[in-house]
Amino acid sequence: MPESKLNVILLRYTPNPEEMVSQAAKLCYSPASVDELKKQVASKDQANFIEKLIDMRHLSPIEHIIFTFGVEGISRACSHQIVRHRLASYSQQSQRYVGQHSKKTGGFDFVVPPSIEKIGKKKWFVEKMKILQEWYDELVEMLGNGGESAFEDARFLLPNAAETKIIITMNARELLHFFRVRCCNRAQWEIRAMAIEMLRLVKKVSPHIFKDAGPGCVNSKCPEGKMTCGKMDEVREKFKKLS
Ligand SMILES: Cc1cc2nc3c(=O)[nH]c(=O)nc-3n(C[C@H](O)[C@H](O)[C@H](O)COP(=O)(O)OP(=O)(O)OC[C@H]3O[C@@H](n4cnc5c(N)ncnc54)[C@H](O)[C@@H]3O)c2cc1C
Repeated sequence: MPESKLNVILLRYTPNPEEMVSQAAKLCYSPASVDELKKQVASKDQANFIEKLIDMRHLSPIEHIIFTFGVEGISRACSHQIVRHRLASYSQQSQRYVGQHSKKTGGFDFVVPPSIEKIGKKKWFVEKMKILQEWYDELVEMLGNGGESAFEDARFLLPNAAETKIIITMNARELLHFFRVRCCNRAQWEIRAMAIEMLRLVKKVSPHIFKDAGPGCVNSKCPEGKMTCGKMDEVREKFKKLS
């Protein structure tokens, strides 16, 4: 039952995403046929057009491009927050089908919050995880020690720290929203770290759509009101440099 670390992989995305967006947007303003538009868009650099589109909030064209991420090394506490975002698709490792018995699979992996390391209590925390593992193993055995019927109820003893894996698909419009709320200093540290990593990856393949992506304060006034972290200049600088 080792400690887990965040790993985010961009598995797939719409090929030539910015060309696709330009084509969809230009179709709104052009009498040309779909085929003509496709050729026009492919033959010309679309960077300025895309940036203008994002600035004027004509955002439906960016719904045509999607990005699929594989994420592992996150806690169930984090995944619970991710799946609250409704305009997305998810496939998550099941605690019902994938047993966590220490003798069979080595037990459950877990995430240690940095705050616990900071106060020097990591050893204490890991000991508690071991106790939960013992209780889980005991309950799996009491429930018949076999398959999903034991795992589905034994998992009630697993902590929010238990590691999970999830595949996430979002379109670019939802991603901009997701980054706005989850890259913010007000978001919980783990989902924030994951969102920043996702942003770093999509910026590489779609630099103009995600040019000013990040928390709300990156390209406007901080939307958090009284709850602001007050570090807007620092945050803007950080997201400008993100690569
Ligand atoms: C800092 C922070 C703290 C939070 N704290 C809590 C908490 O204490 N408790 C809690 O329960 N949740 C909490 N949440 C989760 C939050 O309430 C939302 O569930 C989460 O952000 C996902 O919803 P969303 O509005 O961001 O939009 P998404 O589900 O990502 O959808 C994107 C957008 O589509 C539109 N949309 C989607 N579905 C609907 C709909 N049914 N009706 C109308 N418009 C829709 C909205 O404009 C929405 O913003 C927190 C989130 C953050 C960022």
